[in-house]
Amino acid sequence: MQDIKEIIVALSLQEYNNKTSCKALNKDDTFDFECSSCGGCCRNREVDILLNPFDLYRATNYIKSLNLDLQIGGLPVNMVSIESFINCFCDWYEGESSKLPIVTLDLSNAGTCPLLKDNRCQIQEAKPHICSLYPLGFLIDFETGEYSYYSKPTCGKGTLQKQTVKKWLKNAALLDYEDFIVMWHKQTHLICLWLKELDEWDRIKFIDFVFRTLYLNYDLNQDFLPQFERNCKTILDKLNRYCTMGYKVV
Ligand code: SF4
Ligand code: SF4
Repeated sequence: MQDIKEIIVALSLQEYNNKTSCKALNKDDTFDFECSSCGGCCRNREVDILLNPFDLYRATNYIKSLNLDLQIGGLPVNMVSIESFINCFCDWYEGESSKLPIVTLDLSNAGTCPLLKDNRCQIQEAKPHICSLYPLGFLIDFETGEYSYYSKPTCGKGTLQKQTVKKWLKNAALLDYEDFIVMWHKQTHLICLWLKELDEWDRIKFIDFVFRTLYLNYDLNQDFLPQFERNCKTILDKLNRYCTMGYKVV
């Protein structure tokens, strides 16, 4: 099962350059890629597609604002909240080593994303970070706060188009994601440390609280980031109080 270890990238860029054949890219660097819109990356998937709270907030707002007529299993979807988005399109589980609640797209239909229709993503303009970024991946050096990208396309049209990283991020509406991604990895790292302090019984009591606070507790009419910061603080305060003072808080 995929875990937080696979979404936290904390190598130093120098270490990364030394270890792989991919060169770390800055925003003005170019890479070659042109998507052929085959939908291949949304089908027959063996690897989970993890969603963070900003992905969920953006996707739900997108569906609501456009009043999209989505269906699942032939039935219309009533999308009123992040919780309804998760109920319709996602699964969640406790990360095996991180102990963090992990949200993924529901791939139980032979590995096909439930948001794929006629080879097209139904939330194209608000698709998850990991989908929009492809073929780019990202690296964060937590020591220096340096943020960088790398590219390793394994698909696309034969005729390749040169792209700059900056333009790719802008077109995918991902320029405002960087601050959040750094914050997300830092905060989830802290939450994981506290969750691992708990014994299994206490963790079972906490996991639903952490899931609801981290992923669901957002007013879609308010800015996302302040709400995310508030939610992380709520979780960390409670875990801190419980682990250091033994308060029964759940
Ligand atoms: S969210 Fe969209 S782009 Fe991502 S896997 Fe699903 S259909 Fe594909
Ligand atoms: S990213 Fe690749 S697999 Fe996905 S739709 Fe584009 S060409 Fe196909």
